[in-house]
Amino acid sequence: MAQNDEPLTGPELDYGPAGDADATRVVRAGLPEERPYEPPLPGPVFAAHYHLPGEVEGAPYAYGRDSNPTWTGLERAIGELECPGDERTEVVAFASGMGAISAVLLSQLRPGDVAVLPSDGYNLLASLRERLEGFGVEVRTAPTGRDAQLAELDGAKLLWIETPSNPGLDVCDIARLAEAAHAGGTLVAVDNTLATPLGQRPLHLGADLSVASGTKALTGHGDVLLGYVACRDAELAASVRAWRKTVGAIPGPMEAWLAHRSLATLDIRTQRQAGNALAVAEALLSREEVSDVRHPGLPGDPSHTLAARQMSRYGCVVSFTLPDREFADRFLSAVRLVGDATSFGGVRSTAERRGRWGGDEVPEGFVRLSVGVEDAADLVRDVRHALDTAANGTAPG
Ligand SMILES: *Cc1c(COP(=O)(O)O)cnc(C)c1O
Repeated sequence: MAQNDEPLTGPELDYGPAGDADATRVVRAGLPEERPYEPPLPGPVFAAHYHLPGEVEGAPYAYGRDSNPTWTGLERAIGELECPGDERTEVVAFASGMGAISAVLLSQLRPGDVAVLPSDGYNLLASLRERLEGFGVEVRTAPTGRDAQLAELDGAKLLWIETPSNPGLDVCDIARLAEAAHAGGTLVAVDNTLATPLGQRPLHLGADLSVASGTKALTGHGDVLLGYVACRDAELAASVRAWRKTVGAIPGPMEAWLAHRSLATLDIRTQRQAGNALAVAEALLSREEVSDVRHPGLPGDPSHTLAARQMSRYGCVVSFTLPDREFADRFLSAVRLVGDATSFGGVRSTAERRGRWGGDEVPEGFVRLSVGVEDAADLVRDVRHALDTAANGTAPG
């Protein structure tokens, strides 16, 4: 099967001021000015405190829970990718995606406020919902597809969007939802984990906050947990940063450094992964034992038209349903190039039967496949072979 002979990503979208292409931007994002005999990316700074003579006010680095030069580099880099050319962009890095998500919801919502969440978003949103309700916040939910959250916006303080949604891969119209929300004074946050800033730019599309887990495709090697919040409003950024300082959900310097280092390959990784994901999704479509193949890049996908408008590449996740749980388990033990593991976005392909966690409303045979950077033809051959093996009914072994 030929690789790279078709356009594998969406259109080049007009994302504001012209400048370098993403491939160029990522290799220098957040790096300090070049100085003789200094490394291009300074190593991680391990410091609980910094020398601090005299006044505290205005000191860039005082205590390690408040700030760290390694975070500063990473935060600048992510800011350049989330909102190229906009100097106002501020990024606050967290210890994990959940640290970042919690920081936005818990710092912005007060008793009596209304929040609108997706009913089909990341499964831990349900725990946060319980927590928020315990604090006296009214939480409404609606599915991501068909912009169903629009109907719940009346009087809301905050709208939380996750697009594409994990694991269902539905897409909603960020610009349309943001416009409607802003008309009623509602703050808009988008979970941009699946797309990464190279696939989708929520702040350009009108959102107030772009929030993501950096654990997935952003860092892409399955060896770091990380999260971040990006926004262009200084007050909003300050309140999220104050929350981080209060709860201490800070990234380790080593993790922040590894994340910054991995950004240089974000363009080639996500480009390759999007192409591979489309090739695998197309191969799955032609199999009769596979149903509900979902990938926003598939021309026939219910999300495709909208995804093509607001995304510039469609991510590495393909979801599909096999006849039953046993079939799915046989498939997962028969694939050679796809590890049985959770999470997604890594350079090595992984997949899992999502129903094993509980919490997501998915069929027993539902598989979420994260496509890595391997050769597309090898992956397609391996997946086809594993489906044949699973169909022959061999017990997993
Ligand atoms: C993984 C994930 C999170 C949580 O991120 P962690 O880094 O695991 O805390 C949040 N949102 C989405 C869409 C995710 O896929």
